[in-house]
Amino acid sequence: MDKNQILEKLKTVKYPGFNRDIVSFGMIKDIVFDHKNITLLLSVSSSNSEKKDQLVQDIKSCLANDEYDIMVKILDSPPRKTVDTSNKEANVEGNIGKIIAVASGKGGVGKSTVALNLAAALSVSGKKTGLLDLDIYGPSLPITMGINQNPEVNEEKKILPLEKNNLKLMSFGFVSGNEAPVVWRGPLVAKMTEQFFRDVYWGDLDYLILDLPPGTGDVQLTLSQKIPLDGAIIVTTPNDIALADVRKGADMFKKVDTPLLGVVENMSYMSIDGNISNANDVTLSINNENISINDDGSFNLRFHLFKKGGGLSESQRLEIPFLGEIPYSNDLMRSIDSGNPIVFEDTESEIKNLFIELAKKVTLL
Ligand code: ADP
Repeated sequence: MDKNQILEKLKTVKYPGFNRDIVSFGMIKDIVFDHKNITLLLSVSSSNSEKKDQLVQDIKSCLANDEYDIMVKILDSPPRKTVDTSNKEANVEGNIGKIIAVASGKGGVGKSTVALNLAAALSVSGKKTGLLDLDIYGPSLPITMGINQNPEVNEEKKILPLEKNNLKLMSFGFVSGNEAPVVWRGPLVAKMTEQFFRDVYWGDLDYLILDLPPGTGDVQLTLSQKIPLDGAIIVTTPNDIALADVRKGADMFKKVDTPLLGVVENMSYMSIDGNISNANDVTLSINNENISINDDGSFNLRFHLFKKGGGLSESQRLEIPFLGEIPYSNDLMRSIDSGNPIVFEDTESEIKNLFIELAKKVTLL
């Protein structure tokens, strides 16, 4: 076996919980031959030891052979980033496990909706989570969280996040009263946004989710450069114009060496339940797609508003993990407009479960 043959074989090993293989994830850092031993050096950013054990097992069984012993060594992950949000003499600082940006190439694709519900789902799953709305031009948190309250400032002049159901929240809208400073130009917006990022005292968090301003221009590039991001998630709708911008987003994050954690496709389809009272011999076909009708006359139709599978195929083309589809949902829209995130509602719903699943995937990364 030579290195190339090993790499070819390893392309069949998926990172646990994902459709993507470990070679395209860039996890194989070196392959060392020594007599009858082959040692693989792996870089895995996850701190989940179960995942790591599973990965080692999968690699060993993939490469098992009579000639060589296979060893797998996982290199130490980079140290947790500490975001110093205060001067140390005053003995206050924020210790943040992972900072994850939620981005989109276009406005209106549901970036803030996904960022908010992902953060809420992480919080509901017991992770200490913060959500920072960095969209200075169009802050959304005051509306989507139904909060109309000014944050307090501590003795070190750091802004203290507001809280809802244990989720820590901060938005420029809380301090500016939603007065968008539209006259600010790009460099000033980037500077103010970065400053705002530094001015919030978060305390200890497992996850800080950043709702980045939409687009992939200078402001977003500067922010991605200046803020110590652990990774980025791109939200898109499955239509060609939005999908083309996923590429721009991917390019931007590559430029600043920020790992792309995946693509979330929003408004993928609309789930329609119906019933036909006399179901005998009825054939239902919509957009050339036959809909099967159950014996009791009920049926469910997934109506694809844009392009079926567009997000998945674009993420495969760009070799970015696909994190899932969120359907168009009136309940989700209503929850956003009424300031009460659907993930925080007591009742179970398909859409709430989808966000809980998304959060689970994010914690496994
Ligand atoms: P962005 O942050 O990309 O500009 P928003 O998250 O603000 O987009 O969403 C824009 C609008 O679309 C909001 O009114 C929101 O309620 C609605 N919306 C977002 N995702 C969905 C969805 N999956 N189903 C229904 N409405 C949605």
